[in-house]
Amino acid sequence: MGTYCLECGAAILGRCDKKFCCDMCRNIYHNRLYREERRQITHINKRLAANRRILENLYSAGVKKVSRNLLEDVKFDFDCYTSSSTNHLGKTTYRCYEFKYSSDSHKNVKIEKD
Ligand SMILES: [Zn+2]
Repeated sequence: MGTYCLECGAAILGRCDKKFCCDMCRNIYHNRLYREERRQITHINKRLAANRRILENLYSAGVKKVSRNLLEDVKFDFDCYTSSSTNHLGKTTYRCYEFKYSSDSHKNVKIEKD
């Protein structure tokens, strides 16, 4: 039984573990495979950058506490952050690069910077 190129379907001569008939087919195959991954990474990076910009603008204007509603009004994306941690009291702090933010029971968001 022969081996066939994953990209073009041509029979592959030589080693039986080869998956592609040539470098061009291998490149086309992998470019297509990772295109969607790169698109998703770019999309998330843009959302993170937008969040970071909002936090930077508020923080540099001296705003250390803001209502959740205001953040929603300026399209802050609460589903997009770089990391989070929850302390022993169950309070979660989110991080967006060098900024940290957490909500209190009055729907205010405290903004801190490293
Ligand atoms: Zn091929």
